[in-house]
Amino acid sequence: MLAPYLPLTRPTIDEATIAGVGEVLRSGWITSGPKVKELEAALSLRCAGRPVRVFNSGTCTMEIALRIAGVGPGHEVITTPLSWVATSHVILEVGARPVFVDIDPVTRNIDLDRIEAAITPATRAIIPVDLAGLPVDRDRLYAIAQRRGLRVIEDAAQSLGSRWRGREIGEGGDFVSFSFHPNKNITTIEGGALVLNDEREARLAEQYRLQGVVRTGFDGMEVDLVGGKFNLTDVAARVGLGQLPRLDEFNLRRRELVRGYFERCATPAVRALGLQLPIADFTETNWHMFQVVLPAERLTITRAEVMAKLHAAGIGSGVHYPAIHLFGVYRRLGWKEGDLPVAEGIARRILTLPLFPLMTDADVGRVVEQLAGILHAHQKS
Ligand SMILES: *Cc1c(COP(=O)(O)O)cnc(C)c1O
Repeated sequence: MLAPYLPLTRPTIDEATIAGVGEVLRSGWITSGPKVKELEAALSLRCAGRPVRVFNSGTCTMEIALRIAGVGPGHEVITTPLSWVATSHVILEVGARPVFVDIDPVTRNIDLDRIEAAITPATRAIIPVDLAGLPVDRDRLYAIAQRRGLRVIEDAAQSLGSRWRGREIGEGGDFVSFSFHPNKNITTIEGGALVLNDEREARLAEQYRLQGVVRTGFDGMEVDLVGGKFNLTDVAARVGLGQLPRLDEFNLRRRELVRGYFERCATPAVRALGLQLPIADFTETNWHMFQVVLPAERLTITRAEVMAKLHAAGIGSGVHYPAIHLFGVYRRLGWKEGDLPVAEGIARRILTLPLFPLMTDADVGRVVEQLAGILHAHQKS
Protein backbone atom coordinates (compact mmCIF):
# COMPACT_ATOMS: atom_id res chain seq x y z
CA MET A 1 0.00 0.00 0.00
CA LEU A 2 1.26 3.45 -0.88
CA ALA A 3 1.83 5.75 2.13
CA PRO A 4 -0.23 8.99 2.04
CA TYR A 5 1.51 12.09 0.70
CA LEU A 6 3.82 13.58 3.29
CA PRO A 7 3.67 17.39 3.02
CA LEU A 8 6.58 19.65 3.90
CA THR A 9 4.63 20.97 6.86
CA ARG A 10 1.12 21.10 8.24
CA PRO A 11 -0.43 22.89 11.23
CA THR A 12 -1.84 21.05 14.27
CA ILE A 13 -5.26 22.53 15.11
CA ASP A 14 -7.13 20.74 17.89
CA GLU A 15 -10.92 20.35 18.26
CA ALA A 16 -11.04 22.63 21.32
CA THR A 17 -9.57 25.43 19.20
CA ILE A 18 -12.07 24.81 16.42
CA ALA A 19 -14.91 24.93 18.97
CA GLY A 20 -13.44 28.13 20.44
CA VAL A 21 -13.42 29.74 17.00
CA GLY A 22 -17.09 28.80 16.66
CA GLU A 23 -17.82 30.59 19.92
CA VAL A 24 -16.08 33.75 18.75
CA LEU A 25 -18.00 33.66 15.46
CA ARG A 26 -21.28 33.36 17.36
CA SER A 27 -20.36 36.02 19.91
CA GLY A 28 -21.15 39.03 17.75
CA TRP A 29 -17.57 40.41 18.06
CA ILE A 30 -15.31 38.90 15.41
CA THR A 31 -12.66 41.52 14.62
CA SER A 32 -10.02 42.86 17.07
CA GLY A 33 -11.36 42.77 20.60
CA PRO A 34 -11.05 40.76 23.83
CA LYS A 35 -9.32 37.74 22.24
CA VAL A 36 -6.60 39.99 20.81
CA LYS A 37 -5.98 41.46 24.27
CA GLU A 38 -5.91 37.95 25.78
CA LEU A 39 -3.38 36.74 23.22
CA GLU A 40 -1.19 39.81 23.78
CA ALA A 41 -1.24 39.20 27.54
CA ALA A 42 -0.35 35.51 27.09
CA LEU A 43 2.54 36.37 24.76
CA SER A 44 3.75 39.09 27.12
CA LEU A 45 3.91 36.50 29.92
CA ARG A 46 6.23 34.40 27.76
CA CYS A 47 8.34 37.49 27.03
CA ALA A 48 9.22 38.38 30.64
CA GLY A 49 6.32 40.83 30.88
CA ARG A 50 7.51 43.03 28.01
CA PRO A 51 4.78 44.81 25.99
CA VAL A 52 3.60 42.68 23.05
CA ARG A 53 1.17 43.71 20.31
CA VAL A 54 -0.29 41.37 17.69
CA PHE A 55 -0.84 42.14 14.00
CA ASN A 56 -2.14 40.44 10.87
CA SER A 57 1.35 39.38 9.71
CA GLY A 58 4.93 38.94 10.81
CA THR A 59 5.91 41.33 8.04
CA CYS A 60 4.08 44.51 9.07
CA THR A 61 5.52 43.98 12.57
CA MET A 62 9.02 44.67 11.23
CA GLU A 63 7.90 47.58 9.08
CA ILE A 64 6.25 49.14 12.13
CA ALA A 65 9.35 48.52 14.28
CA LEU A 66 11.44 50.36 11.68
CA ARG A 67 8.97 53.27 11.72
CA ILE A 68 9.00 53.44 15.52
CA ALA A 69 12.81 53.44 15.37
CA GLY A 70 12.64 56.40 12.98
CA VAL A 71 14.28 54.54 10.09
CA GLY A 72 13.47 56.02 6.69
CA PRO A 73 14.86 57.63 3.54
CA GLY A 74 18.63 58.13 3.57
CA HIS A 75 19.15 55.35 6.10
CA GLU A 76 20.69 51.88 5.72
CA VAL A 77 19.67 48.67 7.46
CA ILE A 78 21.91 45.61 7.61
CA THR A 79 20.34 42.19 7.04
CA THR A 80 20.86 38.66 5.75
CA PRO A 81 20.33 37.52 2.15
CA LEU A 82 19.16 34.03 3.24
CA SER A 83 15.61 34.71 4.40
CA TRP A 84 12.07 35.17 3.21
CA VAL A 85 11.89 38.36 1.11
CA ALA A 86 9.76 40.06 3.77
CA THR A 87 12.91 40.63 5.85
CA SER A 88 14.41 43.04 3.34
CA HIS A 89 11.20 44.27 1.69
CA VAL A 90 10.22 46.04 4.92
CA ILE A 91 13.43 48.08 4.70
CA LEU A 92 12.42 49.25 1.22
CA GLU A 93 8.84 49.86 2.41
CA VAL A 94 10.03 52.52 4.85
CA GLY A 95 12.26 54.09 2.20
CA ALA A 96 15.61 52.91 3.55
CA ARG A 97 18.33 50.87 1.81
CA PRO A 98 18.95 47.20 2.64
CA VAL A 99 22.61 46.28 3.03
CA PHE A 100 23.11 42.52 2.78
CA VAL A 101 25.90 40.86 4.74
CA ASP A 102 26.99 37.34 3.80
CA ILE A 103 26.11 34.36 6.00
CA ASP A 104 28.08 31.94 8.14
CA PRO A 105 28.15 28.60 6.27
CA VAL A 106 27.69 26.58 9.48
CA THR A 107 24.82 28.47 11.17
CA ARG A 108 23.45 29.77 7.82
CA ASN A 109 22.64 32.98 9.73
CA ILE A 110 24.15 36.42 9.16
CA ASP A 111 27.95 36.30 9.62
CA LEU A 112 28.54 38.43 12.73
CA ASP A 113 32.21 38.84 11.79
CA ARG A 114 31.18 40.77 8.69
CA ILE A 115 28.66 43.20 10.16
CA GLU A 116 30.99 45.94 11.36
CA ALA A 117 32.61 46.33 7.95
CA ALA A 118 29.15 47.00 6.47
CA ILE A 119 28.29 49.80 8.91
CA THR A 120 28.38 53.35 7.49
CA PRO A 121 27.29 56.71 8.93
CA ALA A 122 23.86 56.03 7.35
CA THR A 123 23.34 52.69 9.15
CA ARG A 124 20.49 52.80 11.68
CA ALA A 125 19.53 49.18 12.37
CA ILE A 126 20.27 45.48 11.97
CA ILE A 127 17.62 42.87 11.11
CA PRO A 128 19.05 39.42 11.89
CA VAL A 129 17.07 36.24 11.16
CA ASP A 130 17.11 33.02 13.24
CA LEU A 131 16.95 30.72 10.20
CA ALA A 132 15.14 27.43 10.93
CA GLY A 133 14.88 28.64 14.53
CA LEU A 134 18.63 28.56 15.26
CA PRO A 135 19.30 31.73 17.26
CA VAL A 136 21.83 34.27 16.07
CA ASP A 137 24.43 34.84 18.83
CA ARG A 138 22.63 37.55 20.82
CA ASP A 139 25.71 38.44 22.92
CA ARG A 140 27.82 39.31 19.90
CA LEU A 141 24.90 40.89 18.02
CA TYR A 142 24.00 43.29 20.84
CA ALA A 143 27.64 44.05 21.57
CA ILE A 144 27.97 45.36 18.01
CA ALA A 145 24.62 47.19 18.12
CA GLN A 146 25.45 48.91 21.40
CA ARG A 147 29.00 49.83 20.38
CA ARG A 148 27.74 51.35 17.10
CA GLY A 149 24.47 52.85 18.38
CA LEU A 150 22.18 50.73 16.20
CA ARG A 151 18.64 49.49 16.78
CA VAL A 152 17.94 45.77 16.33
CA ILE A 153 14.75 44.31 14.90
CA GLU A 154 15.04 40.58 15.54
CA ASP A 155 13.26 38.73 12.73
CA ALA A 156 12.29 35.87 15.01
CA ALA A 157 9.49 34.75 12.67
CA GLN A 158 10.91 31.23 12.89
CA SER A 159 12.28 31.14 16.43
CA LEU A 160 9.32 31.34 18.83
CA GLY A 161 10.27 29.10 21.76
CA SER A 162 13.98 29.00 20.85
CA ARG A 163 16.42 30.07 23.55
CA TRP A 164 19.63 32.02 23.79
CA ARG A 165 21.67 31.03 26.86
CA GLY A 166 18.53 29.64 28.50
CA ARG A 167 16.36 32.74 27.97
CA GLU A 168 13.57 32.52 25.47
CA ILE A 169 13.75 34.67 22.35
CA GLY A 170 11.57 37.70 23.10
CA GLU A 171 12.47 37.85 26.78
CA GLY A 172 15.37 40.14 26.01
CA GLY A 173 16.71 42.25 23.18
CA ASP A 174 15.33 45.27 21.34
CA PHE A 175 12.35 44.79 18.95
CA VAL A 176 11.47 41.12 18.44
CA SER A 177 9.12 40.08 15.64
CA PHE A 178 7.27 36.75 15.45
CA SER A 179 5.10 35.29 12.68
CA PHE A 180 2.07 33.04 13.03
CA HIS A 181 1.82 32.00 9.39
CA PRO A 182 0.49 28.40 9.10
CA ASN A 183 4.01 27.07 8.38
CA LYS A 184 5.42 28.51 11.62
CA ASN A 185 5.62 26.57 14.90
CA ILE A 186 2.28 28.02 16.03
CA THR A 187 -0.29 29.78 13.88
CA THR A 188 -3.14 32.30 13.87
CA ILE A 189 -3.67 31.39 10.16
CA GLU A 190 -2.04 34.71 9.26
CA GLY A 191 -0.60 36.92 11.96
CA GLY A 192 2.40 38.16 13.86
CA ALA A 193 3.53 39.75 17.10
CA LEU A 194 5.97 42.48 18.00
CA VAL A 195 7.76 42.64 21.36
CA LEU A 196 8.45 46.26 22.30
CA ASN A 197 10.56 48.08 24.87
CA ASP A 198 8.07 50.33 26.66
CA GLU A 199 4.51 51.66 26.69
CA ARG A 200 5.36 54.60 24.43
CA GLU A 201 6.50 52.19 21.70
CA ALA A 202 3.46 50.00 22.31
CA ARG A 203 1.11 52.98 21.84
CA LEU A 204 2.88 53.91 18.60
CA ALA A 205 2.59 50.29 17.42
CA GLU A 206 -1.18 50.45 18.06
CA GLN A 207 -1.38 53.66 16.02
CA TYR A 208 0.60 52.26 13.08
CA ARG A 209 -1.59 49.14 13.32
CA LEU A 210 -4.87 51.00 12.76
CA GLN A 211 -4.77 54.13 10.60
CA GLY A 212 -2.93 56.18 13.21
CA VAL A 213 -6.08 56.55 15.29
CA VAL A 214 -6.07 57.43 19.00
CA ARG A 215 -9.45 57.44 20.77
CA THR A 216 -10.33 59.17 24.03
CA GLY A 217 -13.59 59.09 25.97
CA PHE A 218 -16.81 58.28 24.11
CA ASP A 219 -16.33 60.60 21.16
CA GLY A 220 -12.71 61.76 21.09
CA MET A 221 -10.49 60.82 18.12
CA GLU A 222 -7.15 62.14 16.93
CA VAL A 223 -4.93 61.06 14.01
CA ASP A 224 -1.40 62.47 14.10
CA LEU A 225 0.45 59.85 12.06
CA VAL A 226 -0.35 57.75 8.98
CA GLY A 227 -0.98 54.15 9.93
CA GLY A 228 -2.07 51.08 7.98
CA LYS A 229 -4.65 48.33 8.48
CA PHE A 230 -2.66 45.67 10.26
CA ASN A 231 -4.96 44.55 13.09
CA LEU A 232 -5.52 40.86 13.90
CA THR A 233 -9.11 39.58 14.15
CA ASP A 234 -10.49 37.98 17.32
CA VAL A 235 -11.21 34.86 15.26
CA ALA A 236 -7.50 34.58 14.41
CA ALA A 237 -6.48 35.48 17.98
CA ARG A 238 -8.67 32.64 19.28
CA VAL A 239 -6.73 30.22 17.05
CA GLY A 240 -3.53 31.59 18.60
CA LEU A 241 -4.92 31.16 22.12
CA GLY A 242 -5.46 27.47 21.34
CA GLN A 243 -1.95 27.16 19.90
CA LEU A 244 0.25 29.02 22.38
CA PRO A 245 -0.26 26.62 25.34
CA ARG A 246 0.89 23.81 23.06
CA LEU A 247 4.04 25.52 21.77
CA ASP A 248 6.44 23.66 24.07
CA GLU A 249 4.83 20.30 23.30
CA PHE A 250 5.04 21.02 19.55
CA ASN A 251 8.68 22.08 19.81
CA LEU A 252 9.62 18.99 21.84
CA ARG A 253 8.02 16.78 19.22
CA ARG A 254 9.94 18.62 16.48
CA ARG A 255 13.15 18.03 18.40
CA GLU A 256 12.43 14.29 18.71
CA LEU A 257 11.78 14.05 14.98
CA VAL A 258 15.02 15.90 14.26
CA ARG A 259 16.92 13.44 16.46
CA GLY A 260 15.49 10.78 14.14
CA TYR A 261 16.78 12.70 11.10
CA PHE A 262 20.27 12.92 12.59
CA GLU A 263 20.32 9.24 13.55
CA ARG A 264 19.24 8.12 10.11
CA CYS A 265 21.70 10.48 8.42
CA ALA A 266 24.53 9.09 10.57
CA THR A 267 24.61 5.65 8.94
CA PRO A 268 27.74 5.03 6.80
CA ALA A 269 25.67 4.73 3.61
CA VAL A 270 24.00 8.13 4.09
CA ARG A 271 27.17 9.83 5.36
CA ALA A 272 28.96 8.73 2.21
CA LEU A 273 26.55 10.82 0.13
CA GLY A 274 28.05 14.07 1.43
CA LEU A 275 24.89 15.85 2.59
CA GLN A 276 25.61 18.88 4.76
CA LEU A 277 23.46 18.74 7.89
CA PRO A 278 22.41 21.64 10.15
CA ILE A 279 24.03 22.22 13.55
CA ALA A 280 22.87 19.40 15.87
CA ASP A 281 21.54 21.69 18.60
CA PHE A 282 19.12 20.06 21.03
CA THR A 283 18.94 22.75 23.69
CA GLU A 284 18.24 26.13 22.09
CA THR A 285 16.60 25.58 18.69
CA ASN A 286 12.84 25.20 18.23
CA TRP A 287 13.56 23.26 15.02
CA HIS A 288 11.31 25.32 12.81
CA MET A 289 12.84 23.51 9.82
CA PHE A 290 15.25 20.69 9.05
CA GLN A 291 17.41 21.71 6.11
CA VAL A 292 20.17 19.85 4.31
CA VAL A 293 22.60 21.21 1.73
CA LEU A 294 22.86 18.92 -1.29
CA PRO A 295 26.31 17.79 -2.53
CA ALA A 296 25.58 19.39 -5.92
CA GLU A 297 29.13 18.93 -7.24
CA ARG A 298 28.75 15.15 -6.92
CA LEU A 299 25.29 14.87 -8.49
CA THR A 300 24.17 14.40 -12.08
CA ILE A 301 20.73 15.88 -11.31
CA THR A 302 19.60 19.34 -10.22
CA ARG A 303 17.90 20.25 -6.94
CA ALA A 304 14.62 20.70 -8.84
CA GLU A 305 14.96 17.13 -10.15
CA VAL A 306 15.65 15.83 -6.63
CA MET A 307 12.49 17.64 -5.45
CA ALA A 308 10.46 16.22 -8.36
CA LYS A 309 11.63 12.69 -7.52
CA LEU A 310 10.78 13.17 -3.84
CA HIS A 311 7.36 14.47 -4.90
CA ALA A 312 6.84 11.41 -7.11
CA ALA A 313 7.72 9.27 -4.07
CA GLY A 314 4.98 11.06 -2.08
CA ILE A 315 7.23 13.45 -0.17
CA GLY A 316 7.05 17.24 -0.15
CA SER A 317 10.18 19.39 0.11
CA GLY A 318 10.95 23.10 -0.13
CA VAL A 319 13.59 25.76 -0.71
CA HIS A 320 14.17 28.26 2.10
CA TYR A 321 15.40 30.39 0.49
CA PRO A 322 16.68 31.69 -2.84
CA ALA A 323 19.22 34.45 -2.11
CA ILE A 324 17.19 37.66 -1.79
CA HIS A 325 19.76 39.99 -3.36
CA LEU A 326 19.48 38.17 -6.71
CA PHE A 327 15.75 38.93 -7.16
CA GLY A 328 14.93 41.62 -9.73
CA VAL A 329 13.99 44.25 -7.14
CA TYR A 330 17.42 43.99 -5.53
CA ARG A 331 19.40 43.57 -8.74
CA ARG A 332 17.95 46.92 -9.80
CA LEU A 333 19.56 48.37 -6.66
CA GLY A 334 22.94 47.08 -7.86
CA TRP A 335 23.26 43.68 -6.18
CA LYS A 336 24.65 40.87 -8.36
CA GLU A 337 26.03 37.33 -8.43
CA GLY A 338 29.28 37.00 -6.58
CA ASP A 339 28.48 39.73 -4.04
CA LEU A 340 27.61 37.22 -1.30
CA PRO A 341 29.21 33.93 -2.35
CA VAL A 342 28.48 31.90 0.80
CA ALA A 343 24.76 32.70 0.76
CA GLU A 344 24.54 32.17 -2.99
CA GLY A 345 26.20 28.74 -2.78
CA ILE A 346 23.95 27.56 0.04
CA ALA A 347 20.80 29.10 -1.48
CA ARG A 348 21.39 27.10 -4.68
CA ARG A 349 21.77 23.78 -2.85
CA ILE A 350 19.69 24.00 0.33
CA LEU A 351 16.65 21.72 0.68
CA THR A 352 14.02 21.71 3.43
CA LEU A 353 12.67 18.28 4.40
CA PRO A 354 9.26 17.58 6.01
CA LEU A 355 9.02 18.47 9.70
CA PHE A 356 5.85 19.04 11.74
CA PRO A 357 4.52 17.66 15.04
CA LEU A 358 2.02 15.24 13.48
CA MET A 359 4.76 13.42 11.55
CA THR A 360 5.76 9.94 12.69
CA ASP A 361 9.22 8.51 13.22
CA ALA A 362 8.46 6.18 10.30
CA ASP A 363 7.86 9.26 8.10
CA VAL A 364 11.36 10.50 8.96
CA GLY A 365 12.76 7.09 8.00
CA ARG A 366 10.93 7.20 4.72
CA VAL A 367 12.21 10.69 3.86
CA VAL A 368 15.85 9.80 4.51
CA GLU A 369 15.54 6.47 2.69
CA GLN A 370 13.98 8.07 -0.40
CA LEU A 371 16.37 11.02 -0.46
CA ALA A 372 19.41 8.77 0.00
CA GLY A 373 18.14 6.46 -2.76
CA ILE A 374 17.71 9.37 -5.17
CA LEU A 375 21.15 10.83 -4.43
CA HIS A 376 22.82 7.41 -4.59
CA ALA A 377 21.28 6.67 -7.99
CA HIS A 378 22.56 9.97 -9.45
CA GLN A 379 26.19 10.18 -8.38
CA LYS A 380 28.83 11.43 -10.81
CA SER A 381 31.19 8.59 -11.63
C1 LIG B 1 7.40 33.85 7.78
C2 LIG B 1 8.52 34.80 7.80
C3 LIG B 1 8.31 36.19 7.69
C4 LIG B 1 6.99 36.79 7.35
O1 LIG B 1 5.97 36.46 8.17
P1 LIG B 1 4.46 36.64 7.66
O2 LIG B 1 3.66 36.38 8.88
O3 LIG B 1 4.24 35.61 6.58
O4 LIG B 1 4.31 38.01 7.15
C5 LIG B 1 9.39 37.03 7.80
N1 LIG B 1 10.62 36.56 8.00
C6 LIG B 1 10.87 35.25 8.09
C7 LIG B 1 12.27 34.79 8.33
C8 LIG B 1 9.83 34.32 7.97
O5 LIG B 1 10.11 33.02 8.04
